[in-house]
Amino acid sequence: MTHPTPLQRDHIESPRPALLCTALALAAKGVPVLPLRVGKVPFGNCPDCAHNACGGRPHMKTPGSCQCPAPCHGWAAATAAPDTLTSPVWSTSWREAGAVAYHPAGVGLTVVDLDDAAAIAWARLYLPATRTITTTRGEHWLYLGTMPSANAVRPGVDIKSRMAYARWLGPGTGTMTGLPDAVRALPVREEEATPPGSVASSHSASAVWERSVATGCRHTEGYVRTGVERGLALIGEHPESGAGTQAFSVACFLARQHAQCPGPCGLDALAEQVVNAAVAVGVPEPYARRAVVNGLNLHASAAA
Ligand SMILES: [Zn+2]
Ligand SMILES: [Zn+2]
Ligand SMILES: [Zn+2]
Repeated sequence: MTHPTPLQRDHIESPRPALLCTALALAAKGVPVLPLRVGKVPFGNCPDCAHNACGGRPHMKTPGSCQCPAPCHGWAAATAAPDTLTSPVWSTSWREAGAVAYHPAGVGLTVVDLDDAAAIAWARLYLPATRTITTTRGEHWLYLGTMPSANAVRPGVDIKSRMAYARWLGPGTGTMTGLPDAVRALPVREEEATPPGSVASSHSASAVWERSVATGCRHTEGYVRTGVERGLALIGEHPESGAGTQAFSVACFLARQHAQCPGPCGLDALAEQVVNAAVAVGVPEPYARRAVVNGLNLHASAAA
């Protein structure tokens, strides 16, 4: 007659790592999860998947037929299947993991990842309130709806939604609201930002709005000039730290003024003045330009 020794029983009933418990609780609600290493990045690919030799997972940008049982391919490994999460090969990763991540778009969400206090201050001014989660140095703002992910859309701001993972740091507080245009407009690709003859390629210190180019504008010359002068003055009052943000909001304001005009309103020239005003107080030009383009795009119905 033999009895299992305490050592054996410990081995058989070894408690699940706390992170795996968190992961299973999320998975039970349908949230696709994956383990992150201590450095908060996904585990590397196994030898079979190294350099995507397997072709990658079926739902990746370049879809392959990988059925690897290991948590390979970063966000694409995320799963809500408990059998996978507790499989021997995943269990090894959970024991070495430093955090749980989830795939935001997998549950219809977008995470605006605000890295620092300045990014949070910007979000409080320009983004609608929603559910927020405290991170190491900043906050995650969660919105309902998905979009392409993009890093560094502004200083200290990343967007994590489709084909991305975000750290799970708890449910947060506040009521989740719909993904706003203000977030959708943030990732402006370089080619979108620089169409020929647009704001971005017509840089010139002397560009000034003229009534003659605004043949489709329903406003008086005085109204337009007063609007832009007020905006430029605001940028001048916010040197360095806040001027880029101010340029963004001035561009929003100008685009809104002309949203009902049949156009063209000469917004290119107005935008150029805003960029120049921001650059003049120390905002790096690429940042100023993107802030202005993003601001104008928020009201893209306005005719340029
Ligand atoms: Zn693999
Ligand atoms: Zn693979
Ligand atoms: Zn107009």
